Amino acid sequence: MRLVAHLDDLDLPVAGILVGDRVLTLALLVERAGLRDELALLDPRGLLAEDEDLAETRAAVARAERAGLAGVPAATLRRTAILEPGKIVCVGHNYAGHVREQGLPLPTRPMLFAKFANAVVGDGEPVIRPSTTHALDLEAELAVVIGRRARRVAAVDALAHVAGYAGANDVSARDLQGSRPALREDERGDGQWLRAKGSDTFLPLGPCLVTADELPDPGNLAVRGYHTPASGPEAGREVRVQDGRTSDMVFSVAELIAFISASITLQPGDVIVTGTPSGVGVFRDPPVFLAPGDVVRVEVEGIGSLTNPIVDADGTAPAGTPAARLLGGTPG
Ligand code: ZN
Repeated sequence: MRLVAHLDDLDLPVAGILVGDRVLTLALLVERAGLRDELALLDPRGLLAEDEDLAETRAAVARAERAGLAGVPAATLRRTAILEPGKIVCVGHNYAGHVREQGLPLPTRPMLFAKFANAVVGDGEPVIRPSTTHALDLEAELAVVIGRRARRVAAVDALAHVAGYAGANDVSARDLQGSRPALREDERGDGQWLRAKGSDTFLPLGPCLVTADELPDPGNLAVRGYHTPASGPEAGREVRVQDGRTSDMVFSVAELIAFISASITLQPGDVIVTGTPSGVGVFRDPPVFLAPGDVVRVEVEGIGSLTNPIVDADGTAPAGTPAARLLGGTPG
Protein backbone atom coordinates (compact mmCIF):
# COMPACT_ATOMS: atom_id res chain seq x y z
CA MET A 1 0.00 0.00 0.00
CA ARG A 2 1.00 3.58 -0.59
CA LEU A 3 -0.03 5.69 2.40
CA VAL A 4 -0.55 9.43 2.14
CA ALA A 5 -2.05 12.01 4.49
CA HIS A 6 -4.47 14.85 3.91
CA LEU A 7 -6.15 17.42 6.15
CA ASP A 8 -9.78 16.81 7.09
CA ASP A 9 -12.45 19.47 7.69
CA LEU A 10 -10.98 20.15 11.13
CA ASP A 11 -7.46 20.59 9.67
CA LEU A 12 -6.32 17.33 11.25
CA PRO A 13 -4.15 14.90 9.27
CA VAL A 14 -5.85 11.64 8.29
CA ALA A 15 -4.48 8.72 6.30
CA GLY A 16 -5.43 7.70 2.81
CA ILE A 17 -4.32 5.03 0.38
CA LEU A 18 -2.89 6.28 -2.92
CA VAL A 19 -4.05 4.24 -5.94
CA GLY A 20 -2.72 5.77 -9.13
CA ASP A 21 -3.60 9.46 -8.89
CA ARG A 22 -6.60 8.89 -6.63
CA VAL A 23 -6.88 8.43 -2.89
CA LEU A 24 -9.04 5.94 -1.04
CA THR A 25 -9.62 7.94 2.14
CA LEU A 26 -10.22 6.02 5.36
CA ALA A 27 -13.63 7.69 5.56
CA LEU A 28 -14.51 6.28 2.14
CA LEU A 29 -13.25 2.83 3.15
CA VAL A 30 -15.46 2.96 6.25
CA GLU A 31 -18.47 4.09 4.25
CA ARG A 32 -18.13 1.80 1.26
CA ALA A 33 -15.71 -1.04 2.02
CA GLY A 34 -16.50 -2.18 5.54
CA LEU A 35 -13.53 -0.66 7.37
CA ARG A 36 -14.09 -0.39 11.15
CA ASP A 37 -15.18 3.20 11.77
CA GLU A 38 -12.75 3.84 14.65
CA LEU A 39 -10.00 3.78 12.05
CA ALA A 40 -11.42 6.66 9.99
CA LEU A 41 -9.68 9.37 12.03
CA LEU A 42 -6.20 7.87 12.14
CA ASP A 43 -3.19 9.54 10.59
CA PRO A 44 -0.58 7.27 8.97
CA ARG A 45 1.45 7.11 12.19
CA GLY A 46 -1.64 5.97 14.09
CA LEU A 47 -2.44 3.42 11.43
CA LEU A 48 1.08 1.96 11.61
CA ALA A 49 0.97 1.53 15.37
CA GLU A 50 -1.13 -1.64 15.24
CA ASP A 51 -0.42 -4.46 12.80
CA GLU A 52 -4.11 -5.45 12.89
CA ASP A 53 -5.27 -1.95 11.88
CA LEU A 54 -2.92 -1.98 8.93
CA ALA A 55 -4.02 -5.49 7.92
CA GLU A 56 -7.68 -4.50 8.22
CA THR A 57 -7.05 -1.44 6.05
CA ARG A 58 -5.27 -3.57 3.46
CA ALA A 59 -8.26 -5.92 3.32
CA ALA A 60 -10.68 -2.98 2.92
CA VAL A 61 -8.56 -1.58 0.08
CA ALA A 62 -8.69 -4.96 -1.67
CA ARG A 63 -12.50 -5.01 -1.31
CA ALA A 64 -12.72 -1.43 -2.59
CA GLU A 65 -10.60 -2.29 -5.64
CA ARG A 66 -12.67 -5.41 -6.39
CA ALA A 67 -15.81 -3.28 -6.18
CA GLY A 68 -14.31 -0.72 -8.55
CA LEU A 69 -14.44 2.08 -5.96
CA ALA A 70 -12.66 4.99 -7.60
CA GLY A 71 -11.46 7.12 -4.69
CA VAL A 72 -11.00 10.87 -4.60
CA PRO A 73 -8.67 12.63 -7.08
CA ALA A 74 -5.48 13.30 -5.09
CA ALA A 75 -5.30 16.83 -6.48
CA THR A 76 -8.60 17.76 -4.78
CA LEU A 77 -7.38 16.83 -1.29
CA ARG A 78 -5.34 19.13 0.94
CA ARG A 79 -2.26 16.91 1.00
CA THR A 80 0.07 17.16 3.98
CA ALA A 81 3.28 15.45 5.13
CA ILE A 82 2.87 11.68 5.42
CA LEU A 83 3.58 11.74 9.14
CA GLU A 84 4.86 13.69 12.10
CA PRO A 85 7.63 11.46 13.42
CA GLY A 86 8.33 11.13 17.12
CA LYS A 87 12.03 10.70 16.41
CA ILE A 88 14.05 11.42 13.30
CA VAL A 89 17.44 9.69 13.35
CA CYS A 90 19.68 10.65 10.44
CA VAL A 91 22.84 8.99 9.20
CA GLY A 92 25.83 10.86 7.79
CA HIS A 93 28.62 9.52 5.58
CA ASN A 94 26.70 6.36 4.70
CA TYR A 95 27.35 6.04 0.96
CA ALA A 96 30.87 5.07 -0.12
CA GLY A 97 30.74 7.52 -3.05
CA HIS A 98 29.69 10.43 -0.81
CA VAL A 99 32.48 9.60 1.67
CA ARG A 100 35.02 9.49 -1.19
CA GLU A 101 33.94 12.88 -2.57
CA GLN A 102 34.83 14.37 0.83
CA GLY A 103 38.23 12.62 0.88
CA LEU A 104 37.31 10.78 4.09
CA PRO A 105 37.95 7.17 5.14
CA LEU A 106 34.91 4.87 5.34
CA PRO A 107 33.31 5.08 8.82
CA THR A 108 33.70 2.07 11.10
CA ARG A 109 30.31 2.69 12.73
CA PRO A 110 27.24 4.72 11.68
CA MET A 111 27.51 8.48 12.21
CA LEU A 112 24.17 9.62 13.66
CA PHE A 113 22.53 12.99 14.05
CA ALA A 114 18.96 14.13 14.67
CA LYS A 115 16.24 16.36 13.30
CA PHE A 116 12.92 17.28 14.92
CA ALA A 117 9.39 17.21 13.52
CA ASN A 118 9.55 20.97 12.77
CA ALA A 119 11.71 20.04 9.78
CA VAL A 120 9.14 17.79 8.09
CA VAL A 121 7.19 18.99 5.05
CA GLY A 122 5.28 17.04 2.41
CA ASP A 123 5.48 16.70 -1.34
CA GLY A 124 4.98 20.08 -3.04
CA GLU A 125 5.39 22.13 0.14
CA PRO A 126 8.02 24.89 0.17
CA VAL A 127 11.47 24.56 1.73
CA ILE A 128 12.46 27.83 3.40
CA ARG A 129 15.98 29.16 3.00
CA PRO A 130 16.38 30.98 6.33
CA SER A 131 18.29 34.26 6.55
CA THR A 132 20.95 32.40 8.56
CA THR A 133 22.45 30.64 5.51
CA HIS A 134 23.85 31.41 2.07
CA ALA A 135 24.75 27.79 1.34
CA LEU A 136 21.59 25.68 1.20
CA ASP A 137 22.02 22.21 -0.29
CA LEU A 138 20.01 19.08 -1.05
CA GLU A 139 20.56 15.42 -0.10
CA ALA A 140 18.40 12.73 -1.73
CA GLU A 141 17.83 9.86 0.71
CA LEU A 142 15.81 6.76 1.48
CA ALA A 143 13.71 7.16 4.65
CA VAL A 144 12.75 4.13 6.76
CA VAL A 145 9.57 4.32 8.83
CA ILE A 146 9.41 2.08 11.89
CA GLY A 147 6.22 0.04 12.33
CA ARG A 148 6.97 -2.11 15.36
CA ARG A 149 8.82 -1.02 18.51
CA ALA A 150 12.52 -1.82 18.15
CA ARG A 151 14.77 -2.14 21.18
CA ARG A 152 18.06 -4.06 21.03
CA VAL A 153 17.09 -5.67 17.74
CA ALA A 154 19.58 -7.87 15.87
CA ALA A 155 20.26 -7.01 12.24
CA VAL A 156 18.79 -10.33 11.05
CA ASP A 157 15.46 -9.44 12.69
CA ALA A 158 15.52 -5.71 11.98
CA LEU A 159 13.47 -5.48 8.78
CA ALA A 160 10.48 -7.02 10.58
CA HIS A 161 10.29 -3.73 12.51
CA VAL A 162 9.95 -1.61 9.35
CA ALA A 163 6.50 -0.35 8.34
CA GLY A 164 7.66 1.05 5.05
CA TYR A 165 9.78 3.49 3.12
CA ALA A 166 9.60 7.02 1.76
CA GLY A 167 11.78 9.46 -0.09
CA ALA A 168 13.52 12.18 1.92
CA ASN A 169 15.51 15.31 1.25
CA ASP A 170 18.02 16.01 4.04
CA VAL A 171 18.21 19.74 3.32
CA SER A 172 21.41 21.17 4.77
CA ALA A 173 22.89 24.63 5.39
CA ARG A 174 26.54 23.92 4.54
CA ASP A 175 27.92 27.12 6.06
CA LEU A 176 26.27 26.42 9.42
CA GLN A 177 27.44 22.83 9.09
CA GLY A 178 31.01 24.10 8.78
CA SER A 179 31.62 22.50 5.41
CA ARG A 180 34.81 24.15 4.15
CA PRO A 181 33.84 24.86 0.50
CA ALA A 182 30.76 26.76 1.81
CA LEU A 183 32.55 29.02 4.29
CA ARG A 184 33.39 32.63 3.57
CA GLU A 185 36.59 34.07 4.97
CA ASP A 186 35.31 35.15 8.39
CA GLU A 187 32.90 32.24 8.88
CA ARG A 188 33.03 29.12 11.01
CA GLY A 189 30.42 26.43 11.34
CA ASP A 190 28.22 25.91 14.40
CA GLY A 191 30.41 23.06 15.68
CA GLN A 192 27.41 20.70 15.48
CA TRP A 193 24.57 20.26 13.01
CA LEU A 194 21.35 21.27 14.73
CA ARG A 195 20.64 24.50 12.81
CA ALA A 196 22.41 23.20 9.70
CA LYS A 197 20.14 20.17 9.39
CA GLY A 198 17.21 20.82 11.72
CA SER A 199 15.83 24.21 10.66
CA ASP A 200 12.13 24.47 9.76
CA THR A 201 11.20 22.66 6.50
CA PHE A 202 14.62 20.97 6.18
CA LEU A 203 13.12 17.47 5.77
CA PRO A 204 10.75 16.95 2.85
CA LEU A 205 9.33 13.44 3.28
CA GLY A 206 7.19 11.53 0.78
CA PRO A 207 5.48 11.56 -1.64
CA CYS A 208 3.97 8.51 0.08
CA LEU A 209 4.92 5.76 2.49
CA VAL A 210 5.25 2.49 0.59
CA THR A 211 4.62 -0.42 2.93
CA ALA A 212 7.51 -2.85 3.34
CA ASP A 213 5.71 -5.77 1.67
CA GLU A 214 6.01 -3.87 -1.62
CA LEU A 215 9.74 -3.15 -1.17
CA PRO A 216 11.20 -6.35 0.30
CA ASP A 217 14.81 -5.36 -0.53
CA PRO A 218 15.67 -1.79 0.50
CA GLY A 219 19.30 -2.60 -0.34
CA ASN A 220 19.06 -2.21 -4.09
CA LEU A 221 17.06 0.93 -4.95
CA ALA A 222 18.04 3.87 -7.14
CA VAL A 223 18.20 7.18 -5.20
CA ARG A 224 18.39 10.32 -7.34
CA GLY A 225 18.51 14.04 -6.63
CA TYR A 226 17.52 16.77 -9.09
CA HIS A 227 17.94 20.56 -9.03
CA THR A 228 16.13 23.06 -11.23
CA PRO A 229 17.97 26.37 -10.75
CA ALA A 230 16.09 29.64 -11.27
CA SER A 231 19.17 31.44 -12.63
CA GLY A 232 22.55 30.71 -14.22
CA PRO A 233 23.42 28.76 -17.38
CA GLU A 234 20.99 25.93 -16.55
CA ALA A 235 18.12 28.27 -15.55
CA GLY A 236 14.77 26.53 -15.71
CA ARG A 237 16.31 23.19 -16.69
CA GLU A 238 16.19 20.22 -14.32
CA VAL A 239 19.71 18.88 -13.68
CA ARG A 240 20.27 15.41 -12.23
CA VAL A 241 22.93 15.97 -9.56
CA GLN A 242 22.77 12.68 -7.64
CA ASP A 243 22.41 9.20 -9.07
CA GLY A 244 23.16 6.50 -6.51
CA ARG A 245 21.95 3.11 -5.37
CA THR A 246 21.26 1.96 -1.84
CA SER A 247 23.64 -0.96 -2.55
CA ASP A 248 26.42 1.66 -2.10
CA MET A 249 25.42 2.15 1.57
CA VAL A 250 28.22 1.56 4.07
CA PHE A 251 25.67 0.32 6.65
CA SER A 252 22.48 -1.37 5.43
CA VAL A 253 19.00 -0.50 6.68
CA ALA A 254 19.05 -3.61 8.90
CA GLU A 255 22.48 -2.74 10.34
CA LEU A 256 21.34 0.82 11.04
CA ILE A 257 18.26 -0.37 12.95
CA ALA A 258 20.43 -2.76 14.99
CA PHE A 259 23.00 -0.04 15.76
CA ILE A 260 20.43 2.62 16.69
CA SER A 261 18.12 0.34 18.68
CA ALA A 262 21.02 -0.87 20.84
CA SER A 263 20.69 2.42 22.73
CA ILE A 264 17.65 4.29 21.36
CA THR A 265 14.26 2.56 21.40
CA LEU A 266 12.47 3.13 18.11
CA GLN A 267 8.68 3.48 18.14
CA PRO A 268 6.07 3.18 15.37
CA GLY A 269 6.26 6.30 13.21
CA ASP A 270 9.89 7.04 14.02
CA VAL A 271 11.96 7.71 10.94
CA ILE A 272 15.53 6.83 9.98
CA VAL A 273 17.01 8.93 7.18
CA THR A 274 19.71 6.71 5.79
CA GLY A 275 22.31 8.97 4.16
CA THR A 276 22.95 10.42 0.74
CA PRO A 277 24.91 9.33 -2.35
CA SER A 278 27.55 11.54 -4.03
CA GLY A 279 26.77 14.63 -6.06
CA VAL A 280 25.57 17.12 -3.42
CA GLY A 281 26.06 20.80 -4.28
CA VAL A 282 28.78 21.68 -1.77
CA PHE A 283 31.27 19.19 -3.26
CA ARG A 284 30.67 20.19 -6.87
CA ASP A 285 33.30 22.28 -8.63
CA PRO A 286 32.39 25.08 -8.25
CA PRO A 287 29.91 24.47 -5.40
CA VAL A 288 26.21 24.84 -6.27
CA PHE A 289 23.74 26.07 -3.65
CA LEU A 290 19.97 26.43 -3.62
CA ALA A 291 18.28 29.80 -3.94
CA PRO A 292 14.68 30.97 -3.60
CA GLY A 293 13.01 30.25 -6.93
CA ASP A 294 14.78 26.90 -7.43
CA VAL A 295 13.04 23.52 -7.29
CA VAL A 296 14.51 20.32 -5.85
CA ARG A 297 13.31 16.79 -6.45
CA VAL A 298 14.16 13.42 -4.90
CA GLU A 299 13.33 10.19 -6.66
CA VAL A 300 13.56 6.78 -5.00
CA GLU A 301 12.95 3.68 -7.08
CA GLY A 302 9.68 1.96 -6.18
CA ILE A 303 8.49 4.96 -4.12
CA GLY A 304 8.16 7.94 -6.43
CA SER A 305 9.08 11.56 -6.73
CA LEU A 306 9.23 14.23 -4.01
CA THR A 307 9.28 17.80 -5.34
CA ASN A 308 9.76 20.97 -3.32
CA PRO A 309 10.13 24.64 -4.28
CA ILE A 310 12.70 26.81 -2.45
CA VAL A 311 11.40 30.06 -0.95
CA ASP A 312 12.99 32.80 1.14
CA ALA A 313 12.45 33.40 4.85
CA ASP A 314 9.27 35.37 4.07
CA GLY A 315 7.86 32.41 2.16
CA THR A 316 8.17 33.91 -1.31
CA ALA A 317 9.91 32.95 -4.53
CA PRO A 318 10.76 35.51 -7.25
CA ALA A 319 8.02 35.80 -9.89
CA GLY A 320 8.50 33.70 -13.01
CA THR A 321 10.86 31.21 -11.37
CA PRO A 322 10.30 27.43 -11.38
CA ALA A 323 9.40 27.60 -7.67
CA ALA A 324 6.84 30.35 -8.20
CA ARG A 325 5.26 28.36 -11.04
CA LEU A 326 5.07 25.26 -8.85
CA LEU A 327 3.41 27.30 -6.10
CA GLY A 328 0.78 28.41 -8.59
CA GLY A 329 1.93 32.01 -8.85
CA THR A 330 0.86 32.76 -5.30
CA PRO A 331 3.90 31.72 -3.27
CA GLY A 332 3.70 31.80 0.50
ZN1 ZN B 1 21.97 13.34 4.84
